[in-house]
Amino acid sequence: MKIEKDRVVRFHYTVSEAGQPALESSKEGGEPLSILVGHGNIIPGLEKALDGHEAGDSFGVDVPAADAYGERRDNLTQRVPKKHFGAQKLTPGDQVVLNTNFGPRAVTVQKVGMSVVDVDLNHPMAGKDLHFDIEIVDVREASPEEVEHGHVHGEGGHHH
Ligand code: ZN
Repeated sequence: MKIEKDRVVRFHYTVSEAGQPALESSKEGGEPLSILVGHGNIIPGLEKALDGHEAGDSFGVDVPAADAYGERRDNLTQRVPKKHFGAQKLTPGDQVVLNTNFGPRAVTVQKVGMSVVDVDLNHPMAGKDLHFDIEIVDVREASPEEVEHGHVHGEGGHHH
């Protein structure tokens, strides 16, 4: 079964910046990523690259920043009350997930004060041209409910 819109694909990925060691790999946790295709659940460049592949395929794909996490923007620093971070210990350079008005967002800690924290709202991978190594584990039809919700249910997906 080929990967196309409204199908669920499970795949392993390893992502790196061109010529650099891996930044992140689904193999570290052992669980492949599970996504509903065609609903913008992953970066556009990767979704495009998956199209037409099937279970067992392995391939590499270069995704320029514009098709990945976008270009880096200057002046995206925001000062946030420390209490928003709960009890976690913060060090400049840390990447943490902050609950914002727009939902959870990965940010980078820039400066830690007594009561406030300066964070960079750029996605940690913004502005980076990325290379992905992909292994397709399996492909299945999505249920009508999954298509309606726009995300995967069950294994590797939403439980609700
Ligand atoms: Zn749902």
